[in-house]
Amino acid sequence: MARIGFIGLGRMGVPMLRNLLKAGHTVRAFDLSEAALGVAREAGAAIAASGPEAADGVEVLISMVPTGRHVLDIHTGSGGTLARLPAEALVIDCSTIAVAEARALHAAGAERGIPVLDAPVSGGVMGAQAGTLTFMVGGEAAVLDRARPVLEAMGRNVFHAGPAGNGQAAKVCNNLLAGISMIAVSEAYTLGQRLGLDPATMREIVSTSTGSCHALVSYPPVPGLLPNVPSSREYRNGFAADLMLKDLRLAEQAAMETQSSLPLGTLATALYGLFCGAGSGDLDYSAVIRMIEGTPPAARA
Ligand code: NAD
Repeated sequence: MARIGFIGLGRMGVPMLRNLLKAGHTVRAFDLSEAALGVAREAGAAIAASGPEAADGVEVLISMVPTGRHVLDIHTGSGGTLARLPAEALVIDCSTIAVAEARALHAAGAERGIPVLDAPVSGGVMGAQAGTLTFMVGGEAAVLDRARPVLEAMGRNVFHAGPAGNGQAAKVCNNLLAGISMIAVSEAYTLGQRLGLDPATMREIVSTSTGSCHALVSYPPVPGLLPNVPSSREYRNGFAADLMLKDLRLAEQAAMETQSSLPLGTLATALYGLFCGAGSGDLDYSAVIRMIEGTPPAARA
């Protein structure tokens, strides 16, 4: 069992930490929020007084924070964790950040002789709670072999996507597709209903036809088609539209860096931007159907 430092105890971090503890690892945790630290303490983690202190004496240091700026602030520079970690330690960053930022973190680790993995996740809060996350990992295969038992305590699928930054590359492509297809599925359900087609019937037919996709079958934006999806609980406790917008902006950034053109990605970014700008960014991204339908978006709680 490993000695693990864990920085970032938010919606994803707390359930991931619980699964590490359940698997028998010892965890020293840190977050800027006192409330989050209280939850981690109750779960059985030791509490560090600062981010760098969470690095003291650990074998594996995990971060799960909002953006690349947070990640680089935490790990790099003279006050960062890389300057403090024991020589045999490794860093796993599970946050969703830009490919270029992930590669900068790998380079900073290499300067200090600390191996890094970028290991963003898919599966959301429910996957984090159930320990069924998918990890998309960039970095050296031998480092991933060392990290695998730790990742497998939190997830069901661990993929090696290639060298430094490729985990984030896989993540950004996945979320580009997920964001675009949710809008397309919202258009189809809205049009179908206006043509008098029952959404349950439409789901059944299209699920075995050429338009089938995850958003239509397993994550429908229409309430009441499936019990355990955000649309059936007023779009609460899902993958926030704000986060989808963040990820689509990461895709745009990656497109600029690679001289790629993402016509549908750019349109999807604009649509989620309008949706979030109207005050609905805390709702699950499937609530974008309200904008397609012309239903007034819900205000933030
Ligand atoms: P969150 O906002 O709920 O939690 C982030 C936590 O990081 C907060 O508790 C915050 O206090 C803490 N934090 C920020 N800066 C810090 C610092 N310098 N030191 C210590 N703690 C710090 O976010 P989340 O939903 O848990 O998401 C975390 C990451 O996972 C994001 O990059 C997100 O895009 C990605 N992600 C989220 C989901 C999801 O469904 N929520 C799914 C997949 C990926």
